[in-house]
Amino acid sequence: MSLPDYYEVAVPSPLRRLFHYRPPAEHRYPLLPGTRVRVPFGSRKLMGIVISAGCGEPPGGRTLRAIEASLDSQPLLPEDLLGLVLWAADYYQHPPGEALAAILPTLLRRGTAAPLPEIWHWQLSSRGLGLGPEAFPRAPRRRQLVALLRDGPKTSAALRDAGISAEVIRTLAAQTLIERRTQRTPCYTASLLTETPPRPHADQQAALDALEFDRFHAYLLHGDTGTGKTEIYLRAIEQVLRRGRQALVLVPEIGLTPQTLARFRARFGCPVAALHSGLGEAERARTWLGVREGDIRILIGTRSAAFAPLRDLGIIIVDEEHDLSYKQQDGFRYSARDLAVMRAQRAAIPILLGSATPSLESLYNASRGRYRTLRLTQRAGAAAPRWELVDLRRAGLRDGLSAAALDAITTTLAAGRQVLVFLNRRGYATALLCHDCAWIGSCPHCETRLTVHLGTARMICHHCGYRRALATHCPDCRSDHLQLLGQGTEKAESTLRELFPNTPVVRVDRDSTRGRHSLERKLTQIQAGGPCILVGTQMLAKGHHFPDLELAVILSADDALMSPDFRGSERLGQLLTQVAGRAGRGTHPGRVLVQSHYGDHPLLQTLADNGYAVFAAQLLLQRAATGMPPSGALALIRAEAPSATHAETLLATARRIGEALAPAVRFMGPLPAPLEKRGGRYRFLLSLSCSQRGPLHQLLSTLAVRLETLPEARPVRWSIDIDPQEML
Ligand code: ADP
Ligand code: ZN
Ligand code: ZN
Repeated sequence: MSLPDYYEVAVPSPLRRLFHYRPPAEHRYPLLPGTRVRVPFGSRKLMGIVISAGCGEPPGGRTLRAIEASLDSQPLLPEDLLGLVLWAADYYQHPPGEALAAILPTLLRRGTAAPLPEIWHWQLSSRGLGLGPEAFPRAPRRRQLVALLRDGPKTSAALRDAGISAEVIRTLAAQTLIERRTQRTPCYTASLLTETPPRPHADQQAALDALEFDRFHAYLLHGDTGTGKTEIYLRAIEQVLRRGRQALVLVPEIGLTPQTLARFRARFGCPVAALHSGLGEAERARTWLGVREGDIRILIGTRSAAFAPLRDLGIIIVDEEHDLSYKQQDGFRYSARDLAVMRAQRAAIPILLGSATPSLESLYNASRGRYRTLRLTQRAGAAAPRWELVDLRRAGLRDGLSAAALDAITTTLAAGRQVLVFLNRRGYATALLCHDCAWIGSCPHCETRLTVHLGTARMICHHCGYRRALATHCPDCRSDHLQLLGQGTEKAESTLRELFPNTPVVRVDRDSTRGRHSLERKLTQIQAGGPCILVGTQMLAKGHHFPDLELAVILSADDALMSPDFRGSERLGQLLTQVAGRAGRGTHPGRVLVQSHYGDHPLLQTLADNGYAVFAAQLLLQRAATGMPPSGALALIRAEAPSATHAETLLATARRIGEALAPAVRFMGPLPAPLEKRGGRYRFLLSLSCSQRGPLHQLLSTLAVRLETLPEARPVRWSIDIDPQEML
């Protein structure tokens, strides 16, 4: 067997290329793609990943440096996953080495600095199974080890806890009486289900009949909250598990409540694990390796789980596929949903995209026949909620609440039901103003006001996290005539407490749910039933089931309706429909009250009268007319620097180069970002669009490499965002 002469290695560096290295000094077998290696890079040592091997004269010749050491005896990254990440790095214009580093759990990314947490299980080998209870009469530890393993496989940690030393394990392993478990968890058949699933409704059955399991197909499962989408996921997963394969379920950050996990665990008798940002590093690494070994059969995770190394993936499910949290908004800016579709396609397996409010992208793909739509309309329990638009023009308001809203809240509480009051702004007030000199509390690093948090007596910048004590006097004129402007959830909470002193008011937002179980506790309190008012941000809009909730009040639709972002109305429609979906899930039909100064806005009217599907169809027509996604392809180049000129100049240069290279691409900008200054840096955007994806991709590939070497780029932090979700 001839050994390679050099390797191509992905190294976490901002350069969009791979690097060549000579083999390590100890080179007795070829290093396979996906193996971690330690390499010299400049004056540093970095962890890289082997991508490919080559024979003959290496590019770069004699000057090439050598790999210092291989860190894995087998590739850490399975080949299909490696291919997926490299595809994504190319599609999202991200340096491949950084993309690979980004998808690894931190402990594994650190290479040898942190030893792998132990996930190996020891078991008796076939020889070991033949040992009788009388074996090792004079070696009690060895006898104990055999007895322990007869009960089932154990990790070394568990064995250590039982008093077995590493020495004893090594001895028996050397005698091939025990071995590391390599075989996968057996196929589940009879014992797979641990509860009896409900009989599918007619439309659920039709959807299930439409699913094909042995090839790629994307299904858009469109059904309101409560129409039984999760039940379809469970049924589909059952089929996949019966085929001996694994399932990957992606959920938005906030949807990953214990409720979801509990429902999957209740149904299946096989290992179900969760992967999300709340896990400790060791547990993350353990879960990651557990799905790679095939020990974990169902993985439920947030965005980053799209890159989890499931070895026998048989289906992918993306719940709430429209959710913004699937898009990574910094660094490696991938869309977990879009990647999941690509992954399913490469693996030739089905993918289910579920939502009550599908993204325009998915509706567009469905209309072009790329996705198959499965519609669910049979709502469990109550009928769909009734919408009412409350025009705020000239209406008397009491701390943001109209008479109609107060009335509806009073009636609902009197009937023993629950109310949700929604507003998408945390804190107490949106600003603190001096009545005497018009000083206003602003962030020193961003061009924005500091939000007043009365609970903690602080003023906080919601963009960079800057905080200071709540001012009691104006720092400019020493006056104490300070006024609070605007309202956030804290203020709404205290207003509602004043207005309804005998009703519990529960606030749910990022500030009120910081403690480890505080969200869970609040949700349990609400689910216990009885009159109560919930106040909260979009955290409340997602996935939760509140059986007693009957009325949802949206304090204001104005911000979203008037948003400069072209996706503003799409987001508004999704948010309102999701909030509305919280109302009337029990046996009572719900009511939704939307307050707005634009109560007669045609989009709001369509949403209220005809529902999300018709609303979305109208938006799709608008997008087609303007060439915006999903009708055309869009990308952003962002630049930020301590000097506005530097940031703007770099983008102007990028535009000049781009215009010369790609006449088919339309440019807009450089424009200042909506939040022009943030964290002490000035921010600019250049938007690039094209009716076809191809020319845009090609241009950006060339442009990215040019920008890497431009001297103007040195003082600037720049990034490329493909299919941007927010024009920030
Ligand atoms: P979604 O995911 O669309 O919100 P779920 O699957 O959670 O809907 O279903 C809503 C409720 O209806 C759940 O309590 C679920 O257990 C129940 N349910 C779903 N399908 C059926 C069915 N075929 N028969 C009886 N109950 C069902
Ligand atoms: Zn003042
Ligand atoms: Zn700030």
